[in-house]
Amino acid sequence: MPKRPKPDPLAEYRRKRDFGRTSEPAGDVRERASNARLEFVVQKHAASSLHYDLRLEIDGVMKSWAVPRGMTLDPATKRLAMQTEDHPMEYNAFEGTIPSGEYGGGTVMVWDRGHYFADEAAEGQDEQTVLRGEFEAGKMSVSFVGQRMHGSYALVRTEDGRSPKWLLIKHRDDFVRRGVDPGEIHTTSVVTGRTLDKIANEDATDGFEGVGFSAMLFRYVTELPAGAGWAFERAIRGARVHFYVTPDARQIVTAVPNTSKLYRDLGTDLLRYAVENNRSFVLDGEIAPADNGGGNLLLSVYDLLFEDGEVLADKPWTDRRKRLETLFSKLEAPDVQLLPISRRGGASLITRAHAAHWAGIVAKRVTSPYRPGTRSNDWLKHLFPRHE
Ligand code: MN
Repeated sequence: MPKRPKPDPLAEYRRKRDFGRTSEPAGDVRERASNARLEFVVQKHAASSLHYDLRLEIDGVMKSWAVPRGMTLDPATKRLAMQTEDHPMEYNAFEGTIPSGEYGGGTVMVWDRGHYFADEAAEGQDEQTVLRGEFEAGKMSVSFVGQRMHGSYALVRTEDGRSPKWLLIKHRDDFVRRGVDPGEIHTTSVVTGRTLDKIANEDATDGFEGVGFSAMLFRYVTELPAGAGWAFERAIRGARVHFYVTPDARQIVTAVPNTSKLYRDLGTDLLRYAVENNRSFVLDGEIAPADNGGGNLLLSVYDLLFEDGEVLADKPWTDRRKRLETLFSKLEAPDVQLLPISRRGGASLITRAHAAHWAGIVAKRVTSPYRPGTRSNDWLKHLFPRHE
């Protein structure tokens, strides 16, 4: 019997958001090893009303609840938890500001993050099978191993329908703290140490000496165009960065706040080149571990937005690419590569990409300008299923 295609659990999540406007991840359903530790996250979200979002990984997505009064450590204070749409696992790292007017507009902080397990899973039993059954039955018992959330909790569905309501209840165990509100004690991000105000302020200022570019975004597709009018390159599963280089400074602007310090050793040769030749430029690309397995990072560059005082965003991709190739012909920087392109797509490219274990393939319309902060049909990304 032919398999019925599964509905996409993230369809509602994507439908509610305009990824040309929000910096939230579009994401995909993750394929996870059966023995992977299951993730949980609690995000503090200052939307139209302040609430906390509790998310539990089941079957490659994050089951989600909005908890208006936040987490509890006290069995006597049950918390209302309103079930919301499944979120992609990439969301667990999301911290930042959703523009006002967009769905969920407001600032998001990672308030707690860690792993969790099913209390009722017997030795050797698949935890996700247990959790899936409990979720569907509306009665879950889970234990958190987080930085702020510990021990066992019940989640009990009290109202069905289009917007199911649940209660979050702390079970009696060694982690009970009566009369203590964890949201009052803990007001900073477990990832970046920032308060909500700090996150909101830093998100508003990511420019660089007057030329601040937002990244042009990819539209995720399941099929790529075949050839004419397109350039193809390897998709990188990396950290998106803009690399600003002038004779005076080198600055890395990342999509994820407060991560640029991770890359401070990268691109020193770019700076040396800029100093020696009195040049300045802004590169767009992604940072990921190099293929050689040595654990070092590699910046894969795929666009040039600014060069020696000239903004190039309005120029077609072909012009920007030509200038990039000229720039790289003069550069010697082992931790930076110009991502090679192919002008032919189709089945032969897909075969080659699979053989080389690429994450996927990107297609760019060769006539397209660089549209900062915009997702359009000019930049397409097709990711292969992930094997972990
Ligand atoms: Mn929320």
